Amino acid sequence: MGVKKHPTYKTMEPIYEGKAKRLFTTDDPNVLRMEYKDSATAFNGVKKEDFENKGRFNKAITLIIYRMLESKGVKTHLVDDVDDINLLVKKVSIMPLEVIVRNVAAGSFSKRMGVTEGTAFKKPIVEFSYKDDSLGDPFINDDYAREMGAASEEECAYIKSVALLINETLKEFFLTANLRLIDFKIEFGRLAEDPSVIVLADEISPDTCRLWDVTTGKKMDKDRFRQGLGGFMEAYDEVLSRLQK
Ligand code: UDP
Repeated sequence: MGVKKHPTYKTMEPIYEGKAKRLFTTDDPNVLRMEYKDSATAFNGVKKEDFENKGRFNKAITLIIYRMLESKGVKTHLVDDVDDINLLVKKVSIMPLEVIVRNVAAGSFSKRMGVTEGTAFKKPIVEFSYKDDSLGDPFINDDYAREMGAASEEECAYIKSVALLINETLKEFFLTANLRLIDFKIEFGRLAEDPSVIVLADEISPDTCRLWDVTTGKKMDKDRFRQGLGGFMEAYDEVLSRLQK
């Protein structure tokens, strides 16, 4: 798949390759090109496989969601669309925090707390993990975040309030696609041009959200891959077409 010309960038050096994305510099020092790969990983990279079109689905879903969030006043790293698998994003330094918001018990919450998957919470839960694969992304709180130099107390409070706003906005948005937002993970970054500004960064896709069909309860997210349920890309395709309507 070729990269189309875009007025604001020339493809330059690859600077980072993660599990699901690659980053390239552009001729603007504050803008990067983010390429979505076709690989799926789970269990900290132990399970890994390539799926045709996965990058295309996740890029398209992230773009729709980011544009929607921007329209609600959430500051993000998004600059512009490029093509099927690429976005232009502001250069940020990713904060070493995984911010998880949960509306319904699932995944590691159910496992850790012994609460049946599908149990709805009275209010959303926000939790932080310290982003470090070698430590297994340990669960932390705002005191840990401060002492690890990840974020100040004020920044943690800000991030939590933005995460809750994103949750309310996303819940409503996914409901219009007959999808129930169970939980999701987001990341934040400090702008390279002004590190005091914190913006939403990284993807929001069925790789990073749990989405269940409202009517049938069918899982429409990466749990299909984690749990070997089949119909993995069919579910992503379905999520994208529902969000495009
Ligand atoms: N999540 C993610 N990346 C991670 C860990 C979690 O995108 O490294 C997402 C996951 O897809 C789910 C939510 O965050 O939507 C909560 O995940 P959980 O803590 O339950 O962990 P998991 O069961 O995925 O290990």
